[in-house]
Amino acid sequence: MKEKGSLLNRLKLREIGRLVDRVNDLREEMAGLTDQELAALTPAFRQRLAAGASVDDLLVEAYAAVREASRRVLGLFPFDVQVMGAIALHQGSIAEMKTGEGKTLTATMPLYLNALTGQGAILVTTNNYLARRDAQEMGPVYEFMGLTVGVGVFDSDDEVEVADKRAVYAADITYTTSTALGFDYLADNLAADEADKFLRPFHYVIVDEADAVLLDAAQTPLIISGFPRVQSNLYQVANQFVLTLEAEREFRHLKEDKAVFLTKAGINYAQAYFDIPDLYGADYFELNRHINLALRAHHLYKKDVDYVVEDQEVKLLDNRTGRVLEGTRLQSGIHQALETKEGVPLSKDSRSVASVTYQSLFNMFPRISGMTGTGKMAEDELIATYKVPVVVIPTNSLIQRIDYPDQIYVTLPEKLQATLNYVRELHQRQQPVLLVSGTVDIAEIYSRMLLQEGIPHSVLTAKNVAKEAQIIQEAGQLGAVTVATSLAGRGTDIKLGPGVAELGGLAVVGTERMANSRIDWQLRGRAGRQGDPGLSQFFVCLEDELLVQYGGKGINRYFEKHNHSRRANFGQPLKGGRFKRAIRHAQEKSEDKAQSARQSTIQFDESLRIQRQRIYQLRDDLIYNQIDLRERMDTIFRDVLRDFVDQHPQLSHKDLQRYVLDNYSYKNQASLQELDPRNGQAVQDYLWSLYRKELDQKQAYLETEDKLEDFLRLAVLRAIDEAWIEQVDTLQQLKSFVPIRQVAQRDATSEYFRESLESYNQMAQRVQEGIVRNVMLSTIEADPEKGHTVYFV
Ligand code: ADP
Repeated sequence: MKEKGSLLNRLKLREIGRLVDRVNDLREEMAGLTDQELAALTPAFRQRLAAGASVDDLLVEAYAAVREASRRVLGLFPFDVQVMGAIALHQGSIAEMKTGEGKTLTATMPLYLNALTGQGAILVTTNNYLARRDAQEMGPVYEFMGLTVGVGVFDSDDEVEVADKRAVYAADITYTTSTALGFDYLADNLAADEADKFLRPFHYVIVDEADAVLLDAAQTPLIISGFPRVQSNLYQVANQFVLTLEAEREFRHLKEDKAVFLTKAGINYAQAYFDIPDLYGADYFELNRHINLALRAHHLYKKDVDYVVEDQEVKLLDNRTGRVLEGTRLQSGIHQALETKEGVPLSKDSRSVASVTYQSLFNMFPRISGMTGTGKMAEDELIATYKVPVVVIPTNSLIQRIDYPDQIYVTLPEKLQATLNYVRELHQRQQPVLLVSGTVDIAEIYSRMLLQEGIPHSVLTAKNVAKEAQIIQEAGQLGAVTVATSLAGRGTDIKLGPGVAELGGLAVVGTERMANSRIDWQLRGRAGRQGDPGLSQFFVCLEDELLVQYGGKGINRYFEKHNHSRRANFGQPLKGGRFKRAIRHAQEKSEDKAQSARQSTIQFDESLRIQRQRIYQLRDDLIYNQIDLRERMDTIFRDVLRDFVDQHPQLSHKDLQRYVLDNYSYKNQASLQELDPRNGQAVQDYLWSLYRKELDQKQAYLETEDKLEDFLRLAVLRAIDEAWIEQVDTLQQLKSFVPIRQVAQRDATSEYFRESLESYNQMAQRVQEGIVRNVMLSTIEADPEKGHTVYFV
């Protein structure tokens, strides 16, 4: 075990090391306990917590106990470096541990320790298969120690009841995925009453593959959609308009930024075309939004690259795998804009009902920690976004893998040939090869070439995770050749078969450099685990996506000039630092782009996050009876009445009648005729009396005070939900629309915040009006089974 890394890291490791020594000191003592005595430590720890001890006080003993339990139950005794990682995890850090160091086992210690408080500890992985597998493999240890384990992922055809979900989250330790957790969070906050709620307050989470989840997956928010929106006819109009635009002069397309927008000339032209004074005026918000959607549909989405048209439908393609994403649709109208562009029937435009970003989700945990093989490179962003530092844990044995410098070629055919030659050579010596490419397309090209060469191999494209995990386990056997995409088989350990170490171990061959260097390192890390020999070698060409997009003018010009086979050095790798630098720069540029995209996701989510928290808190206060509704109701009615009268000084009989019918009562009110609608006080008194009468009637019908409270709560929740869903949808649309203004020289974020706040304030008023309607216009029916059923309008 060798200490390495920065000074700060060394200091942290020294501090952690002292705790590891103390855990080691208890080794004999724990080994001397009977199974019963060992398991009895759990209630003993809990008693000490109840008596005022802190979780930190228990760390040393609890870790020593779990370590011993894991030796007895699994036959695995956590190495010192694993105990180090486990301590870093408890301290709220991201533990950087290389592939194969045994992160799954490491997590058992902090999960056990933090579950002792009874508030639950959650481990989040990247896919269902891994969540189930880890829970299944580690579960026996927790059960031995008397703790319960839940798995938060279900098959799509499972019927999942609230009780099942509650059991999952009531367990001491829960294994799940980030997606399942996020959607559960949203679903829990759509619940109408206590019976439908299942989450406990968040307490402690460990995120496996932390950088992939917390950063790479965090670019797009999770969205629950439902309720079709009224179809707009602006798609057609905007589509027609966009077709008449002249590129560069009237609109600009920034490829690197994935942005397209009208220029000043374009805006003037639009105003003339539609005969409107100001495209950015509030009245033309929708038109402007649809123009923006049409521009994006035409210039940012390519047919047969980003989507295909099949059976009169626009279907999205996964750009990493090239497969059709069945059932996945773009949000906020872009899908309809694409359908208009392709001239197929418009599908229903569904509204966003609830949404949350991973950043907000995980920041709701009082304590976050994570594990990954590649965290240090992203530490600045991880600290900025989640306030989690990264601690680099030394490996158990020295890393012996050799990482060779990239082989760089001019054209794709040269690169393909060179890669193939290399694989053939390795294969002839029976050395196992893992050939990894960025996309399914490229993986399939290699697979065809290998077939022609008569080299047997397996192809993994992250299609069937469980099956592929089985296959990739075998990738370290003598003579195995495995072609995979970068995501395929992640989280599964590749052990070397007999005789392979002597040949140099597993060879990882990368067919291109990935969009960020962390992924490259994850791929390299699949070889050389636990001190095994191994090697990694990447092949790159100037035609690679990364270089085409981010390589810069110099490289693209070089490619244009040398893109032919009459070159003297055709087939030879390029020498010289300039190409290596170009690759590094291209990758850095790609990383920067992704980071600023995440930054803007966070920025735009900020106001939604604050509003969402307030609304969810309010819902919880209501659901858990923290609010005296009777009293509150009187105030709400008074406010709404006053506002109505204030806003309608010139009220006519007819207006008043309409208002009463829409909000207070379906019955025609004869007494209304005697009222002077301009006498505000009289109108208020009159409406107030309707309210009192209705409430008295409902009270009489419901008999008890409690039941009336229940009814009022439903009426309020419903009003809040309706208004909030509207608000979520509005913000979603606003967001997809705002970036265009940024480039049009307006400050997008502050404008977004202003509009967001404004609509939130309007929402408060809509909620109050909704409450009035729900209380007044609802009918209650006695239901022999459920007590009462309430019907709202
Ligand atoms: P990682 O997720 O860090 O890549 P895994 O959790 O998949 O690693 O574990 C890799 C392999 O190491 C597994 O086969 C596991 O059983 C084994 N392993 C982990 N910890 C130990 C240990 N303390 N002693 C022996 N084998 C271990």
